[in-house]
Amino acid sequence: MCNPCRPKLGATLTHEMGHALIRLQDWTFTLERKVEEGICEAISYEWLKYTVTNYDPSYTQKEAEIAKRVRIQEMSTIETGKYAAEFREARRAIKKYGLKRTLKHVARWRDIPE
Ligand SMILES: [Zn+2]
Repeated sequence: MCNPCRPKLGATLTHEMGHALIRLQDWTFTLERKVEEGICEAISYEWLKYTVTNYDPSYTQKEAEIAKRVRIQEMSTIETGKYAAEFREARRAIKKYGLKRTLKHVARWRDIPE
C-alpha cells in the first residue's frame, strides 16, 4: 500500500474494529444492520477527523498532500454513503453521550439514543 493511502486503510480498519467492538458486547440479539453500520461509520469518521496527515514525519510534503486528499475523500464517502443517515445519528449520539453510553443505550433499546 502506498504511504499516502494510509488514511483509507485506517478508515477501513477502524470501521471493522467497530464491528469487532459490537461483537464483543456479547449482546443476545443481532443489531439491525443499518444501526451497526452507522456506528462503525461514526467511529471511522472520528478516526479520520483526528488524523492529522500533515504532521506525520514519515510523509514527504507531496505524500502529506495526497494523504490529506485521501482523508477528505474518505470522510466525504462516509457523509454521503449508503448509511449516511445512520452515520449522522450515531455521530450525534456519540458526541452527546460518548461511545460507552451510546452502546449501553443500544444494548437496551437496540437503537441509537435521541
Ligand atoms: Zn461495516
